Amino acid sequence: MADALKDKIADVFDEPACGTNVSKSEQQRKKGCAKPLTPGAAAGGCAFDGAKIVLQPIVDVAHLVHAPLACEGNGWDNRGAASSGSERYRTGFTTDMSELDIVMGHGERKLFRAIREVIEAEAPPAVFVYATCVPALIGDDIDAVCRAATEKFGTPCIPVNAPGFVGSKNLGNKLAGEAMLDHVIGTLEPETLTPYDINIVGDYNLSGELWQVKPLLDKLGIRILGSLAADARYKQVAYMHRAKVTMMVCSKALINVARKLEERHGVPWFEGSFYGISDTSASLREMCRILVEQGADAELLDRCEALIADEEAAVWARLEGFRARVEGRRVLLYTGGHKSWSVVAALQELGMEVIGTSVRKATEEDKARVTEIMGDDKHMFDNMAPKDMYRLLKDAGADVLMSGGRSQFVALKARMPWVDVNQEKHEPYAGYMGMVDLLRAIDRAVNNPMWEELRAPAPWETPLTETRTLPPLSGECPVTGIAGTGRAVSLVPPLPPSGAALAAPVEVAGFTSSTTDFEDC
Ligand code: SF4
Repeated sequence: MADALKDKIADVFDEPACGTNVSKSEQQRKKGCAKPLTPGAAAGGCAFDGAKIVLQPIVDVAHLVHAPLACEGNGWDNRGAASSGSERYRTGFTTDMSELDIVMGHGERKLFRAIREVIEAEAPPAVFVYATCVPALIGDDIDAVCRAATEKFGTPCIPVNAPGFVGSKNLGNKLAGEAMLDHVIGTLEPETLTPYDINIVGDYNLSGELWQVKPLLDKLGIRILGSLAADARYKQVAYMHRAKVTMMVCSKALINVARKLEERHGVPWFEGSFYGISDTSASLREMCRILVEQGADAELLDRCEALIADEEAAVWARLEGFRARVEGRRVLLYTGGHKSWSVVAALQELGMEVIGTSVRKATEEDKARVTEIMGDDKHMFDNMAPKDMYRLLKDAGADVLMSGGRSQFVALKARMPWVDVNQEKHEPYAGYMGMVDLLRAIDRAVNNPMWEELRAPAPWETPLTETRTLPPLSGECPVTGIAGTGRAVSLVPPLPPSGAALAAPVEVAGFTSSTTDFEDC
């Protein structure tokens, strides 16, 4: 590993703004945040994958992966981060390194040619060049190639040095943030500035969630000047140093960016969430409070309170419509990264019973709120093995599981409705109106008439107690072409075994073979 990359990783592992990091010993800190892998469990993405996840939602940039084909094959597309404009981010660009390039040391030349090709074909505002394991191991200097290409073509070429082998997806997230701090943030100046300019960091506009929140900001006259990522444009990343406050939506990913923006450019930051009613209100309040501290008119606070009152009243009025359909339903929440307590509070308010919630990515503060709302901490758990989750769903008589995609099969095995609340979901659940969409999804799942039929015993599981006549078979079998007999079939209940019949062994005389294979029919 190059010395510069080693130093960068050591720097990222030392994060004074992260409570967990600060509480670690010097030795533990050097190991980073990656958890030891469990044999048989999915390992999660590599550092390159983490870097790509963070940066790919910058929609107008050409994302060029310097790698053999498989790396971009794995990282292509995105997690449903939506764009309101350019679709360039959805195209996979790669140098597609071959054995010959590796053996002959042609990697850097190939990368330079690929940069030229993508600039000529796409004219992007910038090219992000991602390092991966193979070029990093053979010593390709992507920083030098990017410098030369920027000089030659006049388009910023940004090296993103997070080859997969250096660590986990989380480390890749942070290294991507470092690349933006080193090469992009502060390189352009916005035409106008207002006291209402903010940065949003770590919201990926999954399924268009940011668009459920942006109208609220518009009503308050707040402008998203800088963004990483959330439907971002390259210039928005470059403008981040001029915002008045940074809202960090996911502290796990990019806390280093928020902290360094404050240290280098004096932009204060706070951590917030737009998931759940109370969280959305708290985030808006905090954002406005800091904006006023930074020079915005104090009447912003009154407008913010008025907006929150209107929106909360409107959303509760709409949620009331679902009360009769969801009241008394029992929910198991396995939500991972989202803030559990704010969703728990809203579900309980509508008469639903939350039988358990995972707090594996929640902060200590979140855990305290969950305990407060649910009465004790016995409903909280970190991770749950699928077999335990199955048992809990069955034993606790749950009506619905809300989780990420990996748990859906546990719910289906337990013949239980499942609502996707993770990053791959296809519906946005952010802001006030997002809660209405979430309740609509829960209602749709738990009240689907399919479940009653699915849980009823199959016809062949019900013992036959009296003779039943089935209607005559008509038409012909589409596979064999054999015509139906036209005769009705009677099903006669089996005779109860008599002692004599049991005593005498039955001799099997042999089966009458059919010319028709029944399985095919
Ligand atoms: S671990 Fe390395 S080779 Fe595998 S996808 Fe990540 S960057 Fe590519």
